[in-house]
This record gives sequence, C-alpha cells and structure tokens, in this order.
Amino acid sequence: MLSNLSLAGCLLAAAVTSAQNLTIANLTAGANCACTQLASTYGGQVLTSNSTNYTAEATDYWDIRADLLPGCIFSPANADEVAAAVSTFTSCGAQFAIRGGGHMNFPGSNNIDGGVLLSLGSLTDIKIASDNKTVDAGPGTRWIDVYTALSEYGLYCIGGRLKTIGVPGLELIGGFHYLINKYGMAMDNVLSYDVVLGNGTQVVANSTSNPDLFWALKGGGNNFGIVTKFTIKALPIPYISTTIQEFNESVMPDFIAATVNMAENDPPDVAAGSVISVTYNQTTKSISPSLLGVQEGTESPPSRFANFSAIPSVLSLNYVLTPLEWHSQLDSPFQMFRVQFAHRTIKPDTAQLLKIYESWKTAVDEISDVEGLVPTFVMNILPKSALSVAKNNGIGNTWGLDDDQSYILWQFSTGWANAADDLRMTNWASKLLDYWHLENQALNLASEFIYMGDAGDFQDPFTGFPVENVRKMREIRDAYDPLGVFTRLNWGGFKLGAN
Ligand SMILES: Cc1cc2nc3c(=O)[nH]c(=O)nc-3n(C[C@H](O)[C@H](O)[C@H](O)COP(=O)(O)OP(=O)(O)OC[C@H]3O[C@@H](n4cnc5c(N)ncnc54)[C@H](O)[C@@H]3O)c2cc1C
Repeated sequence: MLSNLSLAGCLLAAAVTSAQNLTIANLTAGANCACTQLASTYGGQVLTSNSTNYTAEATDYWDIRADLLPGCIFSPANADEVAAAVSTFTSCGAQFAIRGGGHMNFPGSNNIDGGVLLSLGSLTDIKIASDNKTVDAGPGTRWIDVYTALSEYGLYCIGGRLKTIGVPGLELIGGFHYLINKYGMAMDNVLSYDVVLGNGTQVVANSTSNPDLFWALKGGGNNFGIVTKFTIKALPIPYISTTIQEFNESVMPDFIAATVNMAENDPPDVAAGSVISVTYNQTTKSISPSLLGVQEGTESPPSRFANFSAIPSVLSLNYVLTPLEWHSQLDSPFQMFRVQFAHRTIKPDTAQLLKIYESWKTAVDEISDVEGLVPTFVMNILPKSALSVAKNNGIGNTWGLDDDQSYILWQFSTGWANAADDLRMTNWASKLLDYWHLENQALNLASEFIYMGDAGDFQDPFTGFPVENVRKMREIRDAYDPLGVFTRLNWGGFKLGAN
C-alpha cells in the first residue's frame, strides 16, 4: 500500500506497520524518519550529505553506475545494530539498500537514491574455529581478508577469485571459485548463516536450525534477511599451482576448444579451475585471449591445463604459491568505469561458442565510437562435478541444476565512460545476448540458467531456476518476512517479486 505521507520525521513511526500490512512511506519522509532515529542513537555512524565521509561511502562501488545519493548512510558496528536498523526501517516505512563488498554492478542493487544505505563495512570479524575446520566471517569482509586469516594456518576456502569481492554477496548468490569441480560453489561451503529478519529478530540458519531458510539463502540472494555472519568450511590447502597464459587472436578456435574440453572433462579427482577471458583493445584493435588457471597442490605446471599449454602462447607463467600470494595479485579497482555484465548459458560446444565470439567482436566494432569502451568476452566453466557437490550433500541449493551436464556461461563484460551511453550499452548487450540465446535454443544447446554474479540488470536469474524452487523460495520468504520488508522496502537487486 503506497501512502503519500507529507508529515516528515518520526511521527511516521507509529503509522506504518501491522501484520501483513507494511506501509511504505514517501521516500524522503521515510528516510528522514529512519536517519533521525538512527542518528539520535548512533551519532557519527550516520552520515548525511554534509558529512565528511559521505561521498567516499556513497561511491564505494565497483561500478560507477552504482553511485547513488542516499538520504543517509548508516554503518552498524554489530548484528544487534543491524537488527535495530531493520526495525527502524520497518517502523518508519523507510526504503533502504544493503551494501556488502559493493561489487554487484548495477544501480539500485546495493545503493539507493534518497533512501537509507545500510553499509555493512564495519562488520569485519573473522574467527577460525579451534579445530581449524571452519571460519566465521562478518558481512563487511572481503575474500582477501578471509584468505589472509586462513593462510596463517595453511588453510583456504572456496570464495571469490578476485581479492576485493565481498564475502556476503558472493555467498548469497553462488560463488565461482577455481576449485569448484571438487568442492562445489562457495555457497555449498557455507555451514551456517546468522540472519536478521524483517521483524528485527535474529536467527541462525543451518542444517538443523531453520533448514528451509538455510537452503533458500544458498543462491536466493537478498530476499530473506540480512546475514551478519557466515560460517564457512575451511580446507587444508597450503599451496596451489598456478598458470597465467596469454595468446594471440589466431589461436581463438583452439582456445575455445580447450575451454570446451575442460568443461566436458573436469572430474573432481584434482581440484582445478580458471578464469577464461578475451579482451578487445579498441585502440590497437587487438584481441587477447587469456587463462588464469589454478590447481590444488604443487604439481607445476598444473597438468589440468595441458590443453591450453599445448597452444602456442605469447606469455606463460607457472608458479607454486600459497593461495594468499595468488589472490593478493588479483585486483580489479573500484570506480574504473561504468560497466555492465550480461550472460547466458550454453552446453559446451566449440563451433557455437566460436560463432558467438565472432559475432561479439563484430558487434563491438559497431560501437567503437563509445568513449572509454572496454569490451571483454568471458567463458565461465560450470562443470557437472561442481553440481554433484550440492546434489550429494543433503542440503542442495536453490539453483536446482542436475549434475548430468556441464555448462559454459558466456558473458559480455563491457565498460564505458559516459552516462549518455548507458541505454545504448544496455540495448547493445541485451539484443546480442537474446539473439545468440535463441540460436542456442534452436540447436538444443541453451540452458536457461542465469548466474546473478554475471547477469545484467535487465535479466531475471529466477526465470532460470526450477519453478518449484522459486515457489518454495517465495513460501520461505513469506514465512520469514511476512511484512515483505526485503521485498518492498529493500527492493533493489534480484528479487523474487511481490505476491
Ligand atoms: C570485478 C568482479 C569480479 C567478480 N568475480 C567473481 C568471482 O570470481 N566469482 C563469483 O562467483 N562472482 C564474481 N563476481 C560477482 C560477485 O560475486 C557479485 O557481484 C557479488 O554480489 C559481490 O558481492 P559483494 O558483497 O561485493 O556485493 P554487494 O553489491 O555489496 O552485494 C550484492 C548483493 O547482495 C546484497 N547483500 C550484500 N550483503 C548482504 C547481507 N549481508 N545480507 C543480505 N544481502 C546482502 C546486496 O544488497 C546486493 O544486492 C565478480 C564481480 C566483479 C565486479
């Protein structure tokens, strides 16, 4: 129910809630109410546009497009303060956004114009269990923080591939890591979530406590509550064998064939995985295919990438490193450009992927006038061995993908400079994506699976989940958040939708 309340401030508080009947206040009035109440209790933890650190906080995003102007920014110091904030948002009818590591790259998924931004950056606790089997991480941590803490004990875990990615976003949407063929997705390695619900209460979700919510959080994103602690499986992996390989455009057919081969033959006996991408330099008009490969253990060069190593390369570097040494080198700075990810999923097929790549290259040439253009074509391997982990661990996840088929997520990652090109770039990506997805459907090569981490803002990942899983997630959401706080007040990002 939308009410157009003109009275600003805390008078709203009494007006807004009753079971099944959450009132959403006027955007400014709701934010004023919540910001005033939070500031009266938490003082300097609340920033407004006059505060010194406001701009730094409001632009602490990977994608420049995600920079918005919240009415205020609140940084809670612990889970109780997160819970108090949620109660305040609910009582004020205040619209809000949640930010973890700030990588989800589209406006509104983690920031809000005029509403309240809840920045989780201060919740940075990391604790390794005394038996070295798990690590607890707060939602303000980045993967490099977790890898650093684990490194001291010769441990590692399944998380982000680049160092600054936030723990919370990735753990709630899936999580592609290098070693997924053996250990599964990052979300499959979460043993417990501490969660603040829409009514401000705090619950634990794991295999014995609120198991339905536990399942829903594995891939269901920000639809259910705010996670204040992730308990993650720690793995005794002190060393990894790494390979960095770069190639010329002339080997693209072999490069794609090696990618397809890896996707089709990726048994879990040796944990290994990669980042496979093709960059197109618009200044030099040169194409650079590259592989970042990681394999568990010390065998060097890592044998699982033999198909790539057999291709003549312009650069090949092999090292045995600690996981921390490897991840420390892998950065992607914030605020480089406006940037859009968009992807679709295909069954491994060399000829078809080569056609898609060639079409992408031609399409990039057609927008070469776009200022600051940084086009990249990415192929993310999702091997069936990775899907076996969720299938066999007694919990599963919301993706509902069977382990009878491997996939390749083909993705456009495109950066540009000016807001004036935003609509053009979205249109460009969506048309190209849709065309090739239709072609893949006609050839029975398409999968409808869309990964939230690689999806564009114009895509709906939930349309690619099994319908019974979406129905179940909506039931779980309605049970744990009957007022719809995480649907109606926190509406940004990939949402299950209103009933
Ligand atoms: C440069 C780059 C590299 C990437 N590499 C990988 C990779 O290797 N593997 C991979 O799988 N993905 C990767 N991704 C995708 C990435 O995993 C997602 O963007 C992920 O959402 C990032 O998490 P975050 O905490 O940094 O993001 P945020 O934008 O802060 O959060 C993502 C979403 O989760 C919500 N959220 C955040 N914290 C919480 C919380 N505590 N409780 C409830 N909801 C919350 C936010 O509101 C937002 O909607 C990459 C993205 C980028 C930009």
